[in-house]
Amino acid sequence: MEVAIVGGGLAGMATALRLQAAGLSTVVLESHGHAGGCAGYWRHKGFSFDVGATTLVDFEPGGVGGELLDAVGMAPVTGERLPGYEAWLPDRRVTLHKATRLWHAERLRSFGDDDAHRKFWRLLDELSAVFWRASRNGIRMPVRRPADVFHDLRVVGLRHLPLARHLADTVGGALRRCGLQGDRALRGLLSMLLEDTVHSTVDRAPLINGALGITMRGAGLVRHDGGMHGFWRTLVGHYRGLGGKLRTAAAVSRVDESQCGYRITTRRGVVSARRVVFAVPAPTVARIAPTLPVTRRLRRYVERDREYGGGAIVVFLGVPESEVAGRSFTHHQLLQCYDTRLGDGNNMFISVSAAGDTVSAPAGHRAVMISTHTALRDWSGLDDEQYAQRKKELGERLVSYAHRVYPALGDRAVVFDVGTPRTYERFTLRPGGGVGGAHLTNRNANQFAIPHDLGGRGVWLVGDTTWPGLGTVACALASRLVAEGILRERGRHG
Ligand SMILES: Cc1cc2nc3c(=O)[nH]c(=O)nc-3n(C[C@H](O)[C@H](O)[C@H](O)COP(=O)(O)OP(=O)(O)OC[C@H]3O[C@@H](n4cnc5c(N)ncnc54)[C@H](O)[C@@H]3O)c2cc1C
Repeated sequence: MEVAIVGGGLAGMATALRLQAAGLSTVVLESHGHAGGCAGYWRHKGFSFDVGATTLVDFEPGGVGGELLDAVGMAPVTGERLPGYEAWLPDRRVTLHKATRLWHAERLRSFGDDDAHRKFWRLLDELSAVFWRASRNGIRMPVRRPADVFHDLRVVGLRHLPLARHLADTVGGALRRCGLQGDRALRGLLSMLLEDTVHSTVDRAPLINGALGITMRGAGLVRHDGGMHGFWRTLVGHYRGLGGKLRTAAAVSRVDESQCGYRITTRRGVVSARRVVFAVPAPTVARIAPTLPVTRRLRRYVERDREYGGGAIVVFLGVPESEVAGRSFTHHQLLQCYDTRLGDGNNMFISVSAAGDTVSAPAGHRAVMISTHTALRDWSGLDDEQYAQRKKELGERLVSYAHRVYPALGDRAVVFDVGTPRTYERFTLRPGGGVGGAHLTNRNANQFAIPHDLGGRGVWLVGDTTWPGLGTVACALASRLVAEGILRERGRHG
């Protein structure tokens, strides 16, 4: 086997697909019963729930995800193309339109049409236009060699070089410069958008990454037909059609160097490969590959990012259609209180399966996922009773907050279940149940992110603990860089 990929989440499967499509023989070793990881699904009583990601970001033709599908010969995704979603702030409702013209009018109407607000939005618009384009053209970070500098100058464009001055800036810094640090409603909206996309706060989020996160919906969000279940069925079917091998229930316990490359020990036997791609969180690499140089090199990154971890809680509801009737948007973001820290329901995201999507829910029903962030420390050390109590209390809290949008939600639920950091730890083996990679700051993002080629020849890292971070769009971009790197390496060294 030429390449073994450890982990069948989006980053691993996307990398495997690209390599397989380029003519290499690949095998994906996945611990769970099916591919997907944090962008996966689970099925219960005729419903299929998305366990984490509900929307694919920038998967339209020409987008970062669109490029992935195109590169491997897949058709564009089919599903509900979200026209945007609604943000429910404590004192107002803002429609986050996908359409640029509508969004530009809405943001001035909602937060103020004055010089300060116009200046702030102008800056975000400029950064997002330039760096979305650069992402779609395969910008490489962190910069490791002169070739990366030339590549990045080309994809960003020389005339945009002055924007490099924002590399050490934060979203909070930009707000202050525009005199908007006291605009509670704007800060509230930005906080939610940043927490969901770069896992950071307004004052710590790197400005360029933050601008991309805040404008993500403009890049296009799609909920696939059949949700993530539908997506994975198509993607895995295509991979297998190309001759790729996906081995499930094959948790990798150890990776060592061998004469012909790497010896990978799994629950289902040993696999040999010339190259290995670790598509699992960085701390997992350190655990399963103690003898490889990559583990020593990763140590400082893993220690640095320990304080930047975070978890998620998701409520899964299978409900009669009538409980989610009467709204034109299927996705909503809610903030309860401006002065309380985010997470544990204070901010949350509601995603409802599309009408007529009978893979996600039986006819006449809908699958509803409500997610929020949570601090991992609040879930460690609990005994079984304390854990059950906390899980129940948070599940009920999230549903009660969701009543702002859907007053009868959950009254006649066919399914009510709650996923916690323990759930993620059990089903995706994420260390400590931490999801979404590190909270991004100017200390660990971009040039300071974990490089994909840290392991040296034959060893590659991909996934949401490496650059550019969390999300389906980030995994799609990282898979491109890793696949290109492997093909270059193969061209040079065989
Ligand atoms: C609640 C929530 C909502 C989200 N919403 C969105 C959204 O709407 N849109 C979006 O773009 N992103 C969203 N995200 C982020 C996105 O889901 C993740 O960033 C992305 O799926 C991470 O993919 P990955 O491949 O890096 O990691 P993972 O998904 O964790 O994949 C790693 C895989 O490796 C497997 N594995 C682990 N250890 C081993 C081992 N030892 N041997 C073999 N296999 C192993 C795991 O089972 C898993 O399948 C959300 C995340 C969460 C938690």
